[in-house]
Amino acid sequence: MPEVSMDAVVALCKRRGFVFQSSEIYGGLASTWDYGPLGAELKRNVKNAWWKSVVQQRDDMEGLDAAILMHPAVWKASGHLDGFTDALVDCKGCKKRFRADHLPGQGAQRSCPECKAVIDLEKTPPRPFNLMLKTHLGAVEDESAATYMRPETAQGIFVNFLNVINSRHRKLPFGIAQIGKSFRNEITPGNFTFRTREFEQMEIEYFVRPEAADEAYHRWIAERRQWYLDLGMRPEKVRLRPHAADELAHYAQACTDIEYAFPFGWSELEGIANRRDFDLRQHAEHSGKDLTYFDQADGGQRFIPYVIEPSGGVDRAVLAFLADAYREEEVKGETRVVLGLHKELSPCKVAVLPLLKKRPELVEMAKKITSSFKKHFVVKYDDTAAIGKLYRRQDEIGTMYCVTVDVQSLDDGQVTVRYRDTMLQDRVAADRLFDYFQTKGLIGN
Ligand code: ATP
Repeated sequence: MPEVSMDAVVALCKRRGFVFQSSEIYGGLASTWDYGPLGAELKRNVKNAWWKSVVQQRDDMEGLDAAILMHPAVWKASGHLDGFTDALVDCKGCKKRFRADHLPGQGAQRSCPECKAVIDLEKTPPRPFNLMLKTHLGAVEDESAATYMRPETAQGIFVNFLNVINSRHRKLPFGIAQIGKSFRNEITPGNFTFRTREFEQMEIEYFVRPEAADEAYHRWIAERRQWYLDLGMRPEKVRLRPHAADELAHYAQACTDIEYAFPFGWSELEGIANRRDFDLRQHAEHSGKDLTYFDQADGGQRFIPYVIEPSGGVDRAVLAFLADAYREEEVKGETRVVLGLHKELSPCKVAVLPLLKKRPELVEMAKKITSSFKKHFVVKYDDTAAIGKLYRRQDEIGTMYCVTVDVQSLDDGQVTVRYRDTMLQDRVAADRLFDYFQTKGLIGN
């Protein structure tokens, strides 16, 4: 299959209403994107599929929806406040990171204090002090009112660890999952929706006994990889990349990225880390609260659980699913663009089309069929163009089936059902459509 270009995906997103540039009528805001009618639907489907698989279909997970704004002390405890507090420069030689104002030398050519390699500040510009977006709560804009837009959703989970254990009577191992917006003042946003300053995360913190952490870490890597494949992503486009020891954050025991072969190269979709007891320990210290877990089974032992964190991006998953599903085919000398999305992700499952919109009986029958499926799945009536054009549009947005009502339908009560991927058509009695779509997996899942 030919490689898909990023330009083709971006053009489709705009043309068909998946993604628009934010504030476009004012010239746009760089690297900020709005999900259009179909993008909103697709993104929702991705989040629902995740929530279903990691919360609703499991016995060992709870869901959470924490606030974006948190007590500023959270970011002190988590390390975010101090973690990026200066302009930072990466040395390409030893891979260490330095404060720009600590580099010896003048002008753009500096030398690394560690390995003495040349650091070219024009090629590797310093990254400003903090990736967190600061804001002020209340009317007074002084430091005491300063707070931050969360740079990750994870901390909302850690600060609610006790609340969830106590309200849900949880025993280890168990996890907490949440989906929500995060904000980072990224220095180099880009690649469409891949890296932006406002984005959405799907994060899990899975709490385990320290000795069970390694097994849970490997299990989550396998399960999270499988989730992408189960939703139709091509296996050859997905790979695991374990982090090298010198890449790991100081508190992490291990980390593996799930990467996708985007048109711009292999890039991270999700990271799965063994964070040991770092986060809960930090919050226990800073809050003064006892965040130990009491294990009655084991002679009343108290300890801080280890945590495995599978942390993925909603926007990156959406982009990967789009790029993965996009294909162009030659059909009778013409190019057919198809979005071969998995049925769970398709923004529209079925389109109902009257062959002739000037025949009121056809329109009436098509509209009746449309309404009869509204409570089962997303179904749209469309008569805004000739049938050939309608099929092409539906293929481009990934609609699974097109139901066409023609003149003969009025006589024999049958309609034509066309499947997106093969373009093969079935003649089906209108009153058997429910069973038909049930066997196709659109109903009752
Ligand atoms: P990267 O190395 O690409 O900056 P990261 O390792 O800093 O990512 P994490 O902090 O582990 O990312 O965040 C978890 C997930 O959140 C990432 O795997 C990614 O899917 C998503 N994510 C992080 N930053 C962004 C961003 N700026 N835009 C879109 N998604 C993001």
